[in-house]
Amino acid sequence: MADAAVREFGQHASATLTVDLVALGSNYRRLADTVGPDVVCAGVVKADAYGLGARRVAPALHRAGCRAFFVAHLDEGLDLRQYLPPRTAIYVLNGLPVGGEGDCAAVGLVPVLNSREQVDAWSACARKLGRALGSVVQVDSGMSRLGMSAGDVAQWTAAGGAAAAGIDVQLVMSHLACADTPAHPANAHRLAQFEAIVRHFPQAQRSLANSSGIFLGPAFRQHLVRPGAALYGINPLPMRSNPMAAVVGLTARVVQIRDVGIDAHVGYGWDFRAAQPTRLATLAIGYADGLHRALGRGGALYFRGRRLPVAGRVSMDSLTVDLGDLPPDALTRGSEIEVIGHHQSIDDLALAAGTIGYEILTGLGQRYQRIYIDDKDKRPAGPSGDVLQ
Ligand SMILES: *Cc1c(COP(=O)(O)O)cnc(C)c1O
Repeated sequence: MADAAVREFGQHASATLTVDLVALGSNYRRLADTVGPDVVCAGVVKADAYGLGARRVAPALHRAGCRAFFVAHLDEGLDLRQYLPPRTAIYVLNGLPVGGEGDCAAVGLVPVLNSREQVDAWSACARKLGRALGSVVQVDSGMSRLGMSAGDVAQWTAAGGAAAAGIDVQLVMSHLACADTPAHPANAHRLAQFEAIVRHFPQAQRSLANSSGIFLGPAFRQHLVRPGAALYGINPLPMRSNPMAAVVGLTARVVQIRDVGIDAHVGYGWDFRAAQPTRLATLAIGYADGLHRALGRGGALYFRGRRLPVAGRVSMDSLTVDLGDLPPDALTRGSEIEVIGHHQSIDDLALAAGTIGYEILTGLGQRYQRIYIDDKDKRPAGPSGDVLQ
């Protein structure tokens, strides 16, 4: 096969996902400025940088000054290693999968050790290689998810702890279950428990805060913060206005327009019935692209600021919007409709779908044309809105 026959996917896509790497960099610097020079601001790029493409997002964060990265899986870390300068710190949140120690050590990834079993596996690997291996220790977050309990840590310390295991504990971390609810008593409680348990690791740095945790105040920031969502423009302060810049745009093109009479039904199950004659537009974007079926009940897209309610159920590959009283020729085949943008943030879309921005982003799917805006493309706009030369 001639190479020319291989096309980049998305050339004919009828929906476009735009990732503004300049806004991403400014969000990173904003968070780094918030925590100040004495606290390390890492970047969480798990789940392919929340669906936005870790291979592009992580190097952009590095250019913005980020020097520590968190992924969830070892495989994500192995892939990311190739796209970041050698020796950039990459931490693996879920720790060591069974049999994964060798690969993890070979490329210098640092596992987050969540249990005594993971400690033992890393320790055996260190003995085999004849050198101390770097690690993070996670202590249980009160979420009963990952991490060692206070009892596990005490037992381990009694058995000689990290030194005996040949492990260099660089960082001790935990996670906040209720950081997005600042008044929740779980936050202060977790902080107190964390401060008690880290005494077992006097040499190690400490980390507790995700995006929302940063805004709980300096006590929660410790030595290193781990924002993900806020970097991508999700609001870390759910009840207040969003301090982060928008990073993600999503538009879909009109595939077909039709006029329907009163009583016309739209979509599977005939959930929607036209109460009066109206005009409909169908877009080639559906639940396989992350537009949740729940948007069929009250969700909307936007065209030049006009709200276009979703009509009927969202299909796998398409959905239909009601154009209502939009002027007849305002839209044609190929017109771009806003899914995420100035009129509808990620958080707005998530609210309409009954979920959170995290699930929207990580569910976006692979069928979009993806456009990454970086410094080369984006120059300051002049007074007329034109691009300055
Ligand atoms: C995902 C994750 C983060 C990032 O959380 P955000 O809310 O996206 O900032 C931080 N720490 C851990 C342990 C995580 O799993």
